[in-house]
Amino acid sequence: MRKGGTDIALEDEKRRWPLCDAAERSKSRLDRDANRPNGRNGATIVTLIPGDGVGPEVIGAAVTALEATGLHIQWDRQEAGAASLKKVGTPVPDSLIRSLKRTHIAFKGPLETRVGEGYRSINVYLRKTFNLYANLRPTLSFEGVQTPFRNVDLVVVRENTEDLYAGIEHQVAPGIVESVKVITARASRRIAQFAFEYARRNGRKLVTAIHKANIMKLSDGLFLKCARRVAQEYPDIRYEEQIVDAACMRLVTNPAAFDVLLLENLYGDIVSDLCAGLVGGLGVVPGANYGQRGAIFEAVHGTAPDIAGKNIANPVAAILSSAMLADYLGAHRGADQIRVAVGEVLRAGRTLTPDLGGKATTTEMTAAILRAMAVQGERPLALA
Ligand code: ATP
Repeated sequence: MRKGGTDIALEDEKRRWPLCDAAERSKSRLDRDANRPNGRNGATIVTLIPGDGVGPEVIGAAVTALEATGLHIQWDRQEAGAASLKKVGTPVPDSLIRSLKRTHIAFKGPLETRVGEGYRSINVYLRKTFNLYANLRPTLSFEGVQTPFRNVDLVVVRENTEDLYAGIEHQVAPGIVESVKVITARASRRIAQFAFEYARRNGRKLVTAIHKANIMKLSDGLFLKCARRVAQEYPDIRYEEQIVDAACMRLVTNPAAFDVLLLENLYGDIVSDLCAGLVGGLGVVPGANYGQRGAIFEAVHGTAPDIAGKNIANPVAAILSSAMLADYLGAHRGADQIRVAVGEVLRAGRTLTPDLGGKATTTEMTAAILRAMAVQGERPLALA
């Protein structure tokens, strides 16, 4: 890794490594399989999917920030989604799947999912195909971003592979359709383990399982049963349960009552956007999907078609997702450098995109973050 012009070694400490032990063991197998780093001059190859809508704008910004840390990445650029559908007639071209099978890591922009039309969500398809079972969304207040609450510091852990996203829907009779909610003990245990392991490794104190087991006694009941069993293996982490509707109310009245949130797929999707609202919106919340054999890093927000191509999308969510990628590659100093710079630019409040009440363009805000990173290269990191 190069920082401020000099080469520094990748740190291999375990801090912030989010996977559970089993996954970590597989990761070393993955390292052998994929023989990483395997790009030119020892670079790590990462699949880059700019995506649709605001994707190319914010991913471009994030790639610049990541490269400014000196992290040695060789990008394997691939198209997907609407862009690819137009060009080669499919939203998920074979070349993309081949690239992901080779690299096991992707940095991706949002992809368009046509509501109610032909193909199911490409995001869901990729998460399922590569078994990226855990979606992680750290949600943090920033000084300078005006919101009703300060000091929100939550982590949403969402199961990514089943629930109503299993895609099992059928028409029973004209005017009657069924969507099947699939919950398995295996996937529930695995995601609970991820949440507890993440909590332990990151000094978190509380995991709250969010459910509707009072109504969905079998499916959510099984999810809870698995979470309770896993909780017993982590006596150092407090465990609580909340019904999803009550949890939403509590989140918007007292978010400090939560720490790590453990959710099934659908509740996770909804609650993570709610949490984003607590800290300034979708423009500032990063995300990542982890599996036993790889990871895809992506902002929480979608393609934002209303602002696409206008150079006004907030690049922060994508830039912070790139910091999660840096962490995944063991480059924690680079990740911190990005996070500190983002915090400084938000705190200063001079170069903010319109969603945060400013007038800056995506390019201007990115440039401000890069300047803050460059300044940090000359002084020690001051983590907030
Ligand atoms: P999709 O169907 O791809 O999910 P969407 O418009 O339904 O698209 P989002 O893309 O998540 O959902 O956008 C929701 C709202 O948040 C929109 O008004 C959008 O402009 C805004 N938004 C999303 N991402 C950003 C961003 N990076 N910067 C500024 N505003 C954003």
